[in-house]
Amino acid sequence: MITLTGKSVFGGVEIGKIAFYKRNERQIKRWRVEDTDAEVKRFEEAKATAISQLQALYEKAMRDVGEENAMIFEMHQMMLEDLDYLDSIIHIITGQEVNAEYAVSTTADNFAMMFSSMDDAYMQGRAADVKDISERVLNILSGAGQSGIDTDVPVIVAADDLVPSETVQLDKKLVLGFATMYGSSNSHTAILARTMNIPAIIGLGEALKPEYDGAFAVIDGFDGKIYIDPDDETLEAMKKKQADDRAKKALLQELKGKENVTLSGQKINLYANIGNSSDVGLVLQNDAGGIGLFRSEFLYLENDTFPTEDQQFAVYKLVAENMAGKRVIIRTLDIGADKQVDYFNLDKEENPALGYRAIRICLTQPEIFKTQLRALLRASAFGQIAIMFPMIISVGEVKQIKAILEEVKAELREAGVPFKEDIEIGIMIETPAAVMMSRELAKEVDFFSVGTNDLTQYTLAIDRQNPKLDVFYDAHHPAVLAMIKMAADNAHAEGKWIGICGELGADLELTETFLEMGIDELSVSPSMILPLRKKVREAK
Ligand code: PEP
Ligand code: MG
Repeated sequence: MITLTGKSVFGGVEIGKIAFYKRNERQIKRWRVEDTDAEVKRFEEAKATAISQLQALYEKAMRDVGEENAMIFEMHQMMLEDLDYLDSIIHIITGQEVNAEYAVSTTADNFAMMFSSMDDAYMQGRAADVKDISERVLNILSGAGQSGIDTDVPVIVAADDLVPSETVQLDKKLVLGFATMYGSSNSHTAILARTMNIPAIIGLGEALKPEYDGAFAVIDGFDGKIYIDPDDETLEAMKKKQADDRAKKALLQELKGKENVTLSGQKINLYANIGNSSDVGLVLQNDAGGIGLFRSEFLYLENDTFPTEDQQFAVYKLVAENMAGKRVIIRTLDIGADKQVDYFNLDKEENPALGYRAIRICLTQPEIFKTQLRALLRASAFGQIAIMFPMIISVGEVKQIKAILEEVKAELREAGVPFKEDIEIGIMIETPAAVMMSRELAKEVDFFSVGTNDLTQYTLAIDRQNPKLDVFYDAHHPAVLAMIKMAADNAHAEGKWIGICGELGADLELTETFLEMGIDELSVSPSMILPLRKKVREAK
């Protein structure tokens, strides 16, 4: 048995043969053409065919995976009409008197190189797209046949990497899962794989050898592992894991599309918590009504240096677009305490949980804060983004935040950059001070979200990181529940809504208590949405 380990993009266990994705290998030759006008016409015709193929793919993807994922093919059609791209191809054909294949291939290489060298992560991602569209035109020009998998039984599709059009063109009934050597979890392909509900593992590297084509294997998307020629023990364990997972999912699937409403008719919003744009697939798959907490600090934690405004914008926009009009609450960076980042150069502190963290960093280093706010506001033009601020203790802080936000809005307005003027703003209720001030704070913001992880730590004076204190830790401590109720009453008294985004929100033993308090929203990990919906629907 050989075990390969990569990065999980989507969970699930599947058993079957591995099939390597086959591409038409083609050598691009350069030859001289006399009649360059006819060659340009040959290219124009291939381009038109490519556009109509893409239109058919767009329509297929709309049916199979929904509008957000189909958009890529609309974008590819637009890229094929891009004037710079076309100018370059026609210029090479006419200027160098060469064949269309050479001109398309050279242009694709140049544009891909240009995109890859850009700072903006979104633009870097376009390198794969320009190669994809050019490959399509080249196939048409050379009359090459279809690429794909050669099978009539379902297989685990293996590849170096797959471009979006390759993924979506596969007959899904024949795909058990995806395993790729490279790829990024933010790529369109990864998003598509998640939406298609197929276990997928990326980043397996060179260990995923073409010689495994045809080998019997198990893909475990939960653990990011592939077992080739599994031994009996592994195979049995995997079959059990698969059966358990299917049984659980089957039961809960029936709740998809159903309302979060109690027997007596009380409604509640169930949103999901994410740390990364690549979690959005899970959010959609589990039918969450929105994103209640996007822990944006993960963007900072993953980086070696401050993520730029454009980098952040690309991520926030991607999430907003994928959520297609559903509310996406993005929390500004909550660095400090347990989330340390070297390049912030924070001093070592005696009491980091009570120290220089979250909004305290933002208010004392406004440039870092403003960069994030600019990115968030810009992304607000692409979906229903709300901004949430962590670790608030006073009305003064909120007023300061709002003043900075207004400055950033004014700058964007002046520069003619679109954003949502009335973007919702909210605060985390995670300090006892915020609870005590909640009536006044509610006048300043659109919503509250209770961070029970920190609220419990600060209310009970129990370090959430210290396992020795577990014996003293009572997640249901009446003091914490009283705090949540107080914040809820004060939010409602001011006509504002309140959610819970700490771990306690997913505690099914407390669901009825939260409903009684009139909590408007619970934000939990994506996998808890359907179990929670079940609980709500059974509650009186
Ligand atoms: C919380 O404190 O409950 C919370 C949601 O924030 P974090 O866990 O990221 O501190
Ligand atoms: Mg917190």
